Amino acid sequence: MRIAVLSDVHSNLEALDAVLERVRAEDAEETWVLGDIVGYGADPQAVVDRLREHGARLLAGNHDLAAVGRFDARWFNKVAAEAIRWTADVLDEEARALLETLQPREGSDGDPVLVHGSVVDPVTEYVTNERVAAASFEADGFGLCFFGHTHLPAVFARRGGGVVESASLEDGQRFTLDEGVRHMVNPGSVGQPRDGDPRASWLLYDGDARTVVVHRVEYAIEGAQAKIRDAGLPGVLADRLAVGR
Ligand code: ZN
Repeated sequence: MRIAVLSDVHSNLEALDAVLERVRAEDAEETWVLGDIVGYGADPQAVVDRLREHGARLLAGNHDLAAVGRFDARWFNKVAAEAIRWTADVLDEEARALLETLQPREGSDGDPVLVHGSVVDPVTEYVTNERVAAASFEADGFGLCFFGHTHLPAVFARRGGGVVESASLEDGQRFTLDEGVRHMVNPGSVGQPRDGDPRASWLLYDGDARTVVVHRVEYAIEGAQAKIRDAGLPGVLADRLAVGR
């Protein structure tokens, strides 16, 4: 079973289209999206439509929930809040209805668990270090969890004895999910990478071989930036795409 794992598309259609082209080329049987489909970028409607056409399995992130009033945007910084108000205004009824049904967590023991933030708090917690990851490993019995929200491609591994180790995942690097070790894996962000590499990030999970490979994909960053500026969204949202921060 080859599964494309995507997260944090953030209304970036140029990045999503470039990634989906690679997903098709890699013959992934399914595509899972770990939330934050919308927010920040200028193409929320087209991104929702594209993922629906693609038949992707979708989770809700904090931005998706905020866009339809299921999460209070007062918790957002000024730029994010402004973008989410704009997003809520441009989504059509069908897209809103879809976002209203999505959950920030899917899957159970035995399957990969999918969350946007963390197992402890699927909506808002950032798994950025071993200590935070350890709490998720303790909160549930999963063997494998895919998560998003940090926009950083990374793996956390918990071996016997409870020690949690982490590593970032580089473009094209094949990482083996050793039997008997529990893992939390982040595919990075399609639409707003924050690890200093502006290329879109996604991950191919091979359930039979027990491997994950992160792929970085170049896309038309200038096109996405121009749309953000034309929409009157905060300029910083366009600027950051060029530097991947
Ligand atoms: Zn995000």
